[in-house]
Amino acid sequence: MESVRTDVVVVGLGAFGSAALWRLAQRGVKVVGIERQAIGHPFGSSHGSTRLFRVACMEHPGLTPIAQESLRLWTELGERTGEVYVRQTGSLNVGGPDSHPVAGARKAAAEAGAQTTDLSHDELARRFPQYHLSAHDVAVWDPGAGICYAEPTVRAQVAEAERLGATVFPHTMVTAIDLQPNGVTVRTPTIDIQADQVVVCAGAWLGKLVPGLPLSPRRTPLFWFRPKDPASDAFRLTNFPSFIWEFPDGRGLWGHGSDEDFLVKVGLDGAERARDFDPDELDRYIHPREDIGELAAAVAASFPDLDPEPVKVIPCMVTDSPDGQFLVGRRDERLVIAGGDSGHGFKHCAGVGELLAELTTKETPYTDVSFIDPLRY
Ligand SMILES: Cc1cc2nc3c(=O)[nH]c(=O)nc-3n(C[C@H](O)[C@H](O)[C@H](O)COP(=O)(O)OP(=O)(O)OC[C@H]3O[C@@H](n4cnc5c(N)ncnc54)[C@H](O)[C@@H]3O)c2cc1C
Repeated sequence: MESVRTDVVVVGLGAFGSAALWRLAQRGVKVVGIERQAIGHPFGSSHGSTRLFRVACMEHPGLTPIAQESLRLWTELGERTGEVYVRQTGSLNVGGPDSHPVAGARKAAAEAGAQTTDLSHDELARRFPQYHLSAHDVAVWDPGAGICYAEPTVRAQVAEAERLGATVFPHTMVTAIDLQPNGVTVRTPTIDIQADQVVVCAGAWLGKLVPGLPLSPRRTPLFWFRPKDPASDAFRLTNFPSFIWEFPDGRGLWGHGSDEDFLVKVGLDGAERARDFDPDELDRYIHPREDIGELAAAVAASFPDLDPEPVKVIPCMVTDSPDGQFLVGRRDERLVIAGGDSGHGFKHCAGVGELLAELTTKETPYTDVSFIDPLRY
């Protein structure tokens, strides 16, 4: 068995882990990243082309500075690589005045200084005729929001880490993390790695590697639709930017248009889905009635100019925490974790990577992390 010595090991190179690896390598830390699959693979939570990027985060005002940090870091990285990782087209938070998207975005604006604009029902209907609105619907416009590019960003974060000196072992499964008095041994079938600290970012598998965390994997496929009129511009990204829309019954839709493949991404929130399964056993088949029926009905009722039959569906999963906030922080002197993405982690991953690097190197975090501290449970 080969054995290697390093300062820090990052386990899992999806969204959070690839960012942690990058930000640690940026500081000159001797760091090794281990990923069970290929880099940018479709078996975790970070695949598919895009994710919604929001600044006025309805989930918690404390997330606004983390999204802003992701934007700063991705902009810097894009200036170096010539790639675009975020496209800021603005975004709509739609629902009744007290709905989570509308009230949550207003709270982020009030408490975290996110710039937003309120849209009345009539303004919303005039500017966005694609929506079949209910009488109570209003919106908050988040001008700094848009979409971010998922798989290309994971690959770019890993590539940048390697350029800065990180060592990466893809196709290597961590089988055990042994915490010892003076460090940690990360075990795989082919190599043991000794380090001072380990940062575990194993997504839906985090609970398997670090027992005792209140995490619940949830099956959440990704869906794409086509406009009924293929010549229509109504669902191009600039005309149909990203949105979150809550219905009076608590369910809701989210998604965005596209300039690239002209497919419109739409997902359903609040539908009952498989949860608490072993992520190695994720059901990767699509079931027309259970997976598509309710979403297709919601799309037909909400966007009459979209064909409600999806043209592409990809299985995926998120990992929920009890309060819907991440678990990012130190578990003990040798162990830092990031997970519990609760379905809204991608936009924050570069900012979370920066926090993980700060926590590992004992720098002062650039923002308050108490609301995502894993020790809150
Ligand atoms: C349908 C859907 C829509 C979403 N929409 C949005 C959105 O619009 N905006 C947004 O911000 N977020 C969104 N998200 C959430 C976002 O995609 C996730 O928060 C993010 O991808 C989570 O990243 P992660 O690093 O925690 O997990 P992952 O990317 O899954 O990374 C974990 C990695 O650990 C590896 N691993 C696990 N076990 C081991 C082991 N033993 N050894 C080595 N490696 C291991 C895995 O292979 C994997 O690569 C969405 C998610 C889904 C599923």
